[in-house]
Amino acid sequence: MILSRDKNVCAYCGNYGETIDHIVPRSQGGLSLFSNCVCCCKRCNSEKGNRFLSEFFNDISRFDEETENELLTRILGRT
Ligand SMILES: [Zn+2]
Repeated sequence: MILSRDKNVCAYCGNYGETIDHIVPRSQGGLSLFSNCVCCCKRCNSEKGNRFLSEFFNDISRFDEETENELLTRILGRT
C-alpha cells in the first residue's frame, strides 16, 4: 500500500496524509503504478487536482523555490 510505504506522510507538505495522489494525473495518462503514486494530504490533493507537479508548484505560494526543487528531486528521484 502506498500509504504504509510513505508512513502516512504527505509527500508534498509533510503533514499527515490519508489520500493517494497520482504524480502524473490519471487524466493525463498517468498509470496507477506504485512508482506513480504518493501519499498526500487532502489539502495538497485538492490543490494539485489533475495537474502535473510542476504546475502545482508554480501555482502554490507556500512552497519556495528551494522546497520545490527538493520535493521534485525526492519524489521524482525515487520512481
Ligand atoms: Zn500535503
